[in-house]
Amino acid sequence: MTLALGNHIGGRSVPAQAGGTVDVFDPATGELKVTIPRSGAADVDAAVQAARAAQPAWAALGVPGRATWLAKLADALEANAHALACLESEDTGKPVWLAREMDIGRSIANFRFFAGAARHQDAPSFTDGSALHYTLRQPLGVVGLITPWNLPLYLLSWKVAPALAMGNTVVAKPSEITPRTADALARIATDVGIPAGVLNVVHGLGPEAGQALIEHPRVRAISFTGGTVTGRHVARTAAPMFKKLSLELGGKNATIVFDDADFDAALDATVRAGFRNQGEICLCGSRVLVHRAIADRFTEALIERVRALRVGDPADPQTQVGALVSLGHRDKVEGYLRLAVEEGGTVRCGGDRPTLAAPFDQGAFLNPAVITGLAPSCRTATEEIFGPVVTVHPFEDEAEAVSIANGTAYGLSASVWTRDLGRARRMGAALEVGMVWVNCWLARDLRTAFGGAKDSGVGREGGRWSLDFYTETKNVTLDG
Ligand code: NAD
Repeated sequence: MTLALGNHIGGRSVPAQAGGTVDVFDPATGELKVTIPRSGAADVDAAVQAARAAQPAWAALGVPGRATWLAKLADALEANAHALACLESEDTGKPVWLAREMDIGRSIANFRFFAGAARHQDAPSFTDGSALHYTLRQPLGVVGLITPWNLPLYLLSWKVAPALAMGNTVVAKPSEITPRTADALARIATDVGIPAGVLNVVHGLGPEAGQALIEHPRVRAISFTGGTVTGRHVARTAAPMFKKLSLELGGKNATIVFDDADFDAALDATVRAGFRNQGEICLCGSRVLVHRAIADRFTEALIERVRALRVGDPADPQTQVGALVSLGHRDKVEGYLRLAVEEGGTVRCGGDRPTLAAPFDQGAFLNPAVITGLAPSCRTATEEIFGPVVTVHPFEDEAEAVSIANGTAYGLSASVWTRDLGRARRMGAALEVGMVWVNCWLARDLRTAFGGAKDSGVGREGGRWSLDFYTETKNVTLDG
């Protein structure tokens, strides 16, 4: 049976005012699972009005009051963790165990962390003779949060938690492809008693509901995570309205393995970085750069490991690679595999569709692929594919590794494998990215700055950067 989700506006679940809906499919089976409201400007406006009405009382609770609500929300998410993981898996195609461990686990952690971070925030003050200058961090009002399909609840909670902790109210527009955990979050927030209008969710298509949100004059900030092309459009629309903007965009990240690295640890991480979440994480290491001295051995070992990855039923705890998010997205990834061959590459493993029993024979599955023989500057090696595909490129020395790694328009992250501390520091400084992991990948500490350079985005979130983003900083000088 197809379930019809509603928007969550002012604590009530409501359909789109114009009455339209959008179908949402399970990508592992092709089955139609739910419909969401096809919202437009009137729905977004209703949500913004609800958020505006709720904001003064929410702000007046103060940090301790709001942090207590966030902690309650985290507890309620934890109590529903398995059900949420199943929803996330059905929407995205990812393995249930991964959704539980990564998406839901980190969503719970986000609410707990920002409840604490808000409580422990400090604000600078200065004295100068008889003058005292002090800093107020005041809520912006209503903020608009727009999120993608790859880590639906995780990325939404990454924005909702600090926005609410700092006294704002929220209108969220989740991806139309993966709406169910945003719906669940809004329901759970209502169930635990978070006041109506504090967290509103408006579903629908990007150019309709999303566009109305970024254009709404009462929305004072937009935090957007999604593709670079969409991000450019969001910036073009919202920047002239002087909204605060945080843009977390695409990536084409390098895993750089030097010949002095711990070979096995680097190999493990290269497989994880390339194929975790079907390669659908903005931080995935889709370009594998290997020092010439170990390139052949490393590449053969990588291919062997990737061939052994288990693709299939997302509910099976043994599954390592689930379905891609949609049949359309698989077509896009397959297009890049064809392009790789045209560009002179060899698909050394994967890239074909696995043979799976019903109902998964209708799903968007793809065997994970390793491609060699490509110039590092070609399109396959520089454009974001966002699927289970890595390209391998040998390099001669540190300078060449840096030059290849920096040779894309993106600048999100890199993972460097070496035992040489001096080299680690030099690489950390030379890579044109927002985040460098040395001898690790995706090691997250919520206090650290998160964000990208170049076409990977503008601004930083995480820790105090999020607290700053979701507030207006005001200086007050007392004298006399
Ligand atoms: P997308 O840009 O297509 O969509 C993202 C969101 O924007 C969706 O909710 C969509 O409905 C909305 N949107 C689309 N058009 C809009 C418009 N005109 N106005 C307002 N909103 C609009 O991205 P996607 O395909 O959902 O997600 C994949 C992309 O997200 C990849 O490029 C990936 O790298 C990126 N991503 C980045 C990060 C990061 O932290 N840097 C994290 C995850 C994903």
